[in-house]
Amino acid sequence: MIIGLTGGIGSGKTTVAKIFELLGIPVYYSDDRAKMLMTQDAQLVSEIKQHFGEAAYNAAGELERKYIANIVFNDPGRLALLNSLVHPATIRDSMQWASRQSSPYVMKETALMFETEAFHHVDKVIYVYAQQALRIQRVMKRDHVTRNEVFARMHKQMDEAIKAKLSDYVIYNNEQQLVIPQVIALHEELLKLVNAS
Ligand code: ATP
Repeated sequence: MIIGLTGGIGSGKTTVAKIFELLGIPVYYSDDRAKMLMTQDAQLVSEIKQHFGEAAYNAAGELERKYIANIVFNDPGRLALLNSLVHPATIRDSMQWASRQSSPYVMKETALMFETEAFHHVDKVIYVYAQQALRIQRVMKRDHVTRNEVFARMHKQMDEAIKAKLSDYVIYNNEQQLVIPQVIALHEELLKLVNAS
């Protein structure tokens, strides 16, 4: 069983994922893996070169992130094209990764669960909730960025209420409820679900 883990920027997805890892659940971190695939997945590298030119990579085979960023910045069509290459590669890779694991279930952490095809490839989705003001504070502190920079990132993502509605479980990471007991309770529920299937 593959469990998706999503939530808004700064909601605490990674923090929650680390707790599941402590319980022995392997976690696939989509953002990190996508970055790695952009230099190491032969098919994806070839597709990026085809659409963005050989200059997308330097002589050492590393991705020229600035070059790509300049192309896709302010050009939604080119950004959508890049995403249409990277997201399927990440889904392919995550399915292969999942098949190599032997735990009762695995987890896939991704901010763009419903904005991409990712939700078609998971069995259940957990949504990590924290109110916007708290998420902004956390990201400002973590990334040393301004409030406006956090807002700009937030506005690129889907409405939080819709994501919550589309999810199967919610973990409240809002500093009012303890997070670890919620994760343990959900872990036990998921184990029961696996055993019953
Ligand atoms: P992003 O979408 O930007 O990747 P995220 O949803 O993965 O963010 P985290 O990186 O887990 O969020 O959390 C954002 C910041 O808030 C981190 O610095 C983390 O340490 C902190 N944080 C998360 N949850 C809590 C909490 N319950 N108490 C205190 N700090 C927290």
